[in-house]
Amino acid sequence: MLNKLRLLTPGPTPLPERVRLALARDMIHHRKSDFMAVMARVQKRLCELFGTKGPVLPLACSGTGAMTAAVYSLFRPGDAVLVVEGGKFGERWTEIARMRGLEPVIVSVPWGSAVDPAAVAKTLDENPGIRGVLMQISETSTGVLHPVRDVAAVTRARDVLLVADGISAVGLSPCPMDEWGIDCLLTGSQKGLMLPPGLALIALSDRAWERAEAEKPGCFYFDLPAERKKLAGNQTHFTSPVNLIVGLDESLDMLLEDGLDTIYKKQWALTAMTRAGAAAMGFDLFAPDHFAWGITSIVLPFGVDGQKVLASAQEKYGVCMAGGQDRLKGRIVRIGHMGWVDWADVLAGLHALARSVIDCGGFTASQDYLEIAMSAYRAAIDVPPGAPVPAVFVRS
Ligand SMILES: *Cc1c(COP(=O)(O)O)cnc(C)c1O
Repeated sequence: MLNKLRLLTPGPTPLPERVRLALARDMIHHRKSDFMAVMARVQKRLCELFGTKGPVLPLACSGTGAMTAAVYSLFRPGDAVLVVEGGKFGERWTEIARMRGLEPVIVSVPWGSAVDPAAVAKTLDENPGIRGVLMQISETSTGVLHPVRDVAAVTRARDVLLVADGISAVGLSPCPMDEWGIDCLLTGSQKGLMLPPGLALIALSDRAWERAEAEKPGCFYFDLPAERKKLAGNQTHFTSPVNLIVGLDESLDMLLEDGLDTIYKKQWALTAMTRAGAAAMGFDLFAPDHFAWGITSIVLPFGVDGQKVLASAQEKYGVCMAGGQDRLKGRIVRIGHMGWVDWADVLAGLHALARSVIDCGGFTASQDYLEIAMSAYRAAIDVPPGAPVPAVFVRS
């Protein structure tokens, strides 16, 4: 009873009370007018969130379901696709592509680094048969933000579809789909959207819709043209995840009430804060140059066991954070600062991290890491209206 449990993980995330109350409402029927009115409202604002003329299709599944829907709808067995692999989720694209019978050509990126768009262009030039590029916007396993905007400039100039996994980017850092030229953008409910897991969202460009309409759907459940038809009447093909869509109606209200730029500024400030705090402790950041705005990966001091640090942070300080996956297991801590998380939660997370590292035999370089973190937050959030925003804030 001493601590309240704070989720600082890259999904699921804490939920605002407004959203929780909306989720608790009684059932409405997914084929009746009450629900259709909710869908119409949600649809309009999803288009704003995705930066697309739409539509944005809701699917009842986790984010990986939308990844599967993209691969099974846009490509046919035997197609070659380029996969940017710089972490666990890049590898997932390869696995899904192989399951569909595609031939993945892998552009491998060291974990912690971002892909070089020139390497994508070169691989496409060397393999003219490639029909799509599959990549993450934010590679959650490493905390890297890939330069999707620059990759889109490469794919847009060719007959190659860019499929972007925005599961830990949509609602967290800018990725305006139509403006950048992303052909398929998808996300899941439990990361940036302040919702429980179980709902995925996916949107296609005109040329991606042409491809989807021309291909036979690869599986019965994920039939995107059929979903699009139903959505024109504000319904989904199968039974809708009604409560999640009612919750989404509420969370979109919150996300958009002060404009998307306010959300991005908050996410940028939380990122600057977390990085400044960790650096003041003397820890290296795992993604030094190109970093996501909803998660920060921190390298633990040599000899400190990451799994013990995480257990201590949760049991003694009430903060649940994520560790590394695969080869990074035990070596890094990933602090999620997405969803309904603010500066005070990040302060708790930084404190829990520092104390737990000390509990596990390490030490911190400075005692002032909380002050330093707060200063970084204020410097980022106090940019006055009309003042030029820091260059890094507008970087893709
Ligand atoms: C969380 C995440 C996924 C997996 O999503 P699920 O909802 O667990 O299926 C895929 N890609 C990225 C970038 C993620 O952050």
